[in-house]
Amino acid sequence: MKSSDHDVERFWQRANSHILYFGCELARFVPTRAEGCWLYDAQGKRMLDFTSGQMSAILGHAHPEVLATIREAAGTLDHLFSGMVSEPVVGLVEQIAEHAPELPYGFLLSTGSESNEAAIKLAKTVTGKWEIVSFTRGYHGVTAGAGAATFKIGRAGLGPLPQGYHAIPAPNAYRPRFPGVDWRQELDDAFDHIDKTSMGSLAAFIAEPILSSGGVIDLPPGYLAELRKHCDRRGMLLILDEAQTGLGRTGTMFAFQRDGVSPDIMTLSKTLGAGLPLAAVMATEKVAKAAAERQFFFYTTHLNDPLPAAVGLKVIEIIVRDRLVERARTAGDRLGAGLLKIKQRHQAVGDVRGRGLMRGLEFADFGNRDATTISNAVTNAALELGLAANIVRSGTSGGVMRIAPPLTVKDEEIDEGLDLLDRAIASVL
Ligand code: PMP
Repeated sequence: MKSSDHDVERFWQRANSHILYFGCELARFVPTRAEGCWLYDAQGKRMLDFTSGQMSAILGHAHPEVLATIREAAGTLDHLFSGMVSEPVVGLVEQIAEHAPELPYGFLLSTGSESNEAAIKLAKTVTGKWEIVSFTRGYHGVTAGAGAATFKIGRAGLGPLPQGYHAIPAPNAYRPRFPGVDWRQELDDAFDHIDKTSMGSLAAFIAEPILSSGGVIDLPPGYLAELRKHCDRRGMLLILDEAQTGLGRTGTMFAFQRDGVSPDIMTLSKTLGAGLPLAAVMATEKVAKAAAERQFFFYTTHLNDPLPAAVGLKVIEIIVRDRLVERARTAGDRLGAGLLKIKQRHQAVGDVRGRGLMRGLEFADFGNRDATTISNAVTNAALELGLAANIVRSGTSGGVMRIAPPLTVKDEEIDEGLDLLDRAIASVL
């Protein structure tokens, strides 16, 4: 049934009277149903979901097999005492380990913040050290430890955060901090700075292989290997946060696999549950052994819950069976080529970048408008036209549009999304 203008007005009165502000403006589009790559509202308007919800729904919305798995698990094994381990949990950790054999041990949680909180605590426990380093534009969550390792947002007004957190800049090929200085020099210099500011207790570096909310900044090939060497020299662990890049989106099962380096600890979240709250912390045998010896403690209500684990198992089964990692590469090539054409048509588009089905489009200042003003206007115009692609604000770099449709996206849907984006940009300029 279609809702009347009165219903819509009433809905927003209720929302404005009850929904507490949490850090972002609410979209005016109110979905009542979601299927595949599409969202629908009560008026019948449809919206192409080009960011997989909150970068998570990699199988699209309401995937029939995921739905069947949820129904089945809810009726058989939903939630247990955390000290009780069950088949779906062992099966999922085993499956992740099969795709990342260097990281055979793990446990399951619900959110990305939690998984990074656990990873940081694990690194501190097993190294016996307490300093953590991350990128200034990285994002790892909102809990105490994960939030302290997040420098791009969320710090103002909080007073003292946990001690011992340091940051270095990530390389940015489109807007280098020092033009002409290559990333190796920048990285060496940054670690020199860390050595001078450290209290001599460096435990770990935590990084996203592609800084997503930092503006889809893809670490150049070779960077992770150098970062690994810097960590090894200092006895630091390397934690990779594959919340968004994990499970095939970038064209390899895990983004670090492009680089032939592996971390000591990997965290997964968003994509693992394909929209359901599910996260994992995976570790090497060495880390796992030290965790047990040193009585590592991270105990939560939903740790190793069987229902979300069953969903995660199904997600991996579908990704492997339907060859969605390869699909992310071919569909990503199509998306990337289309974005490049858009860049060639519009001078206000400064850069397009990314890997597989995780792409960024960065605006440049154009005419008398700055990049951020243009990207805000394009995002709004796209929403009007029926395309949801989300925009990130990254300090001085203006707006970057993040484009990450589900791995199940059809070629026609990619083309339609590109066309809507092209029209949105044209309408603004
Ligand atoms: N890590 C990365 C890379 C993320 O993008 C996010 C969420 N944007 C998080 C961690 C935090 O995850 P959550 O919001 O599920 O706590």
